[in-house]
Amino acid sequence: EKYKEGLTKTRTGFTSKINDLVAKYRKVDEDFFEELEDILLQADVGFDTVMELMDQLRYEVQRKNVKDTSTVQSVISEKLVEIYQAGEEEINELKFADDLTVILFVGVNGVGKTTTIAKLAHRLKNEGKSVLLAAGDTFRAGAIEQLDIWGQRVGVDVIKQSEGSDPAAVMYDAVRAAKSRGVDVLICDTAGRLQNKVNLMNELEKVYRVISREIPGAPHEVLLALDATTGQNALVQAQMFKEATDVTGIVLTKLDGTAKGGIVLAIRSKLNIPVKFVGLGEQMDDLQPFDPQKYVYGLFA
Ligand code: GDP
Repeated sequence: EKYKEGLTKTRTGFTSKINDLVAKYRKVDEDFFEELEDILLQADVGFDTVMELMDQLRYEVQRKNVKDTSTVQSVISEKLVEIYQAGEEEINELKFADDLTVILFVGVNGVGKTTTIAKLAHRLKNEGKSVLLAAGDTFRAGAIEQLDIWGQRVGVDVIKQSEGSDPAAVMYDAVRAAKSRGVDVLICDTAGRLQNKVNLMNELEKVYRVISREIPGAPHEVLLALDATTGQNALVQAQMFKEATDVTGIVLTKLDGTAKGGIVLAIRSKLNIPVKFVGLGEQMDDLQPFDPQKYVYGLFA
């Protein structure tokens, strides 16, 4: 249900165009393929994925001797899921440690990182886990306070220091606190300024090192928040963070705010990093585990 609701824009923008196309052409021919290609590209599915999909569609259409366009529709959804999954299963699951799990959040300012941390904390709490937050963005004015407010709303504590303090020191405190309190999950925020790639790399490296030194095997997840409404720009950001740290999963935020939901597929194929969650709104429970089947079904249902 959440999926259907959250994908309204993509459904009206992308899916309805495909439906119109199917109605318009009826017969599968080169013109049909070309227009389909345009629609997919406009939906930010990404050039490589579109080309792969078109190749496979042409092949399947020939192999199955598909003549009418309405049959192509089901082949499209089938292929979209296949391309997304690339033979892997359950890649959207978070990795948990037996005792303390540490999740590090990275991402550029404004993509929805803080909101996502709150949503995830809320979600984990509902699953019966105890959660602690670490206010590691000591750089952006108001970031600590914003996380604190969310912490109160969700009902989880926030470990923080004053603005401008060393994020690695915050992490050290937070890990210690998480251990002594015996919490299940520690979620760490980090700074999202992007003025300098070397700075970003150094800071993330330092934060990562402090966490992994205190807890072998941690952080168990490094989740990159990307804003779906920024389209291909999100891919550029992802590439940069991938070089800066060991990103284990992506949270695609604001998917409800774009008609170009195809970006999910582009991210998967371009970066080979699984999308673990999608943000489908501004409220606490608007975070959904990403499921390619449900996603594609949500588009065409
Ligand atoms: P940060 O700078 O990355 O920490 O971004 P914030 O968490 O402050 O979010 C920036 C804005 O995006 C806020 O107005 C959020 O309410 C909004 N936002 C975050 N996630 C979503 C989402 O999934 N859908 C929508 N529509 N808005 C979102």
